Order: sequence, then C-alpha cells, then structure tokens
Amino acid sequence: MQPLSNRAKQVDKKPMTLAERAYLPAIFQGLSITMRHFFMKKPTIRYPEEQRPFSPVFRGLHVLKRDEQGRERCTACGLCAVACPAEAITMVAGERKKGEEGLYREEKYAVSYEINMLRCIFCGLCEEACPKAAVYLQADKMAPPRFERDEFIYGKNRLVEPVSPDNRSKRGIQLTEEQAQQLRAKMDAQLA
Ligand code: SF4
Ligand code: SF4
Repeated sequence: MQPLSNRAKQVDKKPMTLAERAYLPAIFQGLSITMRHFFMKKPTIRYPEEQRPFSPVFRGLHVLKRDEQGRERCTACGLCAVACPAEAITMVAGERKKGEEGLYREEKYAVSYEINMLRCIFCGLCEEACPKAAVYLQADKMAPPRFERDEFIYGKNRLVEPVSPDNRSKRGIQLTEEQAQQLRAKMDAQLA
C-alpha cells in the first residue's frame, strides 16, 4: 500500500535477547527511576502540621458578624443564598421574640444558618450580596481538615463571631476597661 506521507519508518523486528526476555533491563530502569525520586526534594508537605503561605487573593473562611452591641446582624433575608453559585448556603428564618432585642438586631433573624464548606468555592459573592454587612470572609482563616463530611457543614455555632467581653458590657453589664480585661483573661484561661 502506498504511504500517505514519508514519515513512516520501517522498524526491525529483531528477536529479543535472553536479558530482554527476562525483563531485566526494564526492571533496572524502573528501579533507577524509583531511586532517583526517593532522593529528590518532595513536592508535597505534611499538611496540616505544615502549611503553605496563603495566596494574596485567598478570601478565607466565613464569619457571621455581630454589630457594635453584640447583636447578630443577619436578618435571614436569603440574598447570600441566592447569590451563591455553589448553592452552599441554607437558612431558616425566625421572628425575634420580646426580650431578645439584645441578641438579634432586626425583628427577623436566622434561627439556623448553614454553609456547606465542601460545596463552597470561596468566591466571596455572599459577602458582596449581603445588605446588612453580616457575612464576611476572613482571609487569615481556612476550614481545617476533618475526617467526616458532616463536619464540613458549618452552622451558627461555628459561623457567628463570639461575643467579646467589651461588647457584653455594652449590652447591659457595664464593665470598666480593667474589669473587661480581667474577664477576657479569665475566658482565655478557660479556653487554654
Ligand atoms: S464564598 Fe461563594 S460559594 Fe462560598 S458560600 Fe459564599 S457565595 Fe457561596
Ligand atoms: S448573611 Fe446577609 S445576605 Fe445572608 S441572609 Fe443574612 S443578612 Fe441576608
């Protein structure tokens, strides 16, 4: 048959030597590659004990902010969930009861608020969509490694920022700066 181009090469079909039939050259070649990689610098790290520096454009992990009086800012309007391209945010809205004015800023609040960190692509669109400045991404934090998938569903217990002693004082327990520092030290000691 006439070849379509002149690039085809005729190869010899030599009979294999005894060593080739025993696969010895191929085995030694494979072992040499293995040994070469054994002494090369490792491209991987022992995460999470070691961590690489964050990229300058890394947006980080979510936090649900409180206002200056320690009340939750989120009103469960759902705009962040609508904006989320990964459909990672779910929430249940509730009505604030009498006496809860110090807990929630608006009459409507999020009874539950969850972000699925396995779905999230950390694009930051939820932060941009929020009209109440309630959800932010913290550039210095990331979701720590876990063994169970359930543990990547972050609820309010892990998303709402903790109340600081200073903010508590603004919610009725009037503390001096010294008392606030003592309370902060006590809380730090309990957490240690
Ligand atoms: S960062 Fe992006 S993907 Fe993640 S919850 Fe917010 S909007 Fe959704
Ligand atoms: S975080 Fe912001 S956008 Fe999302 S439900 Fe709460 S108030 Fe609305």
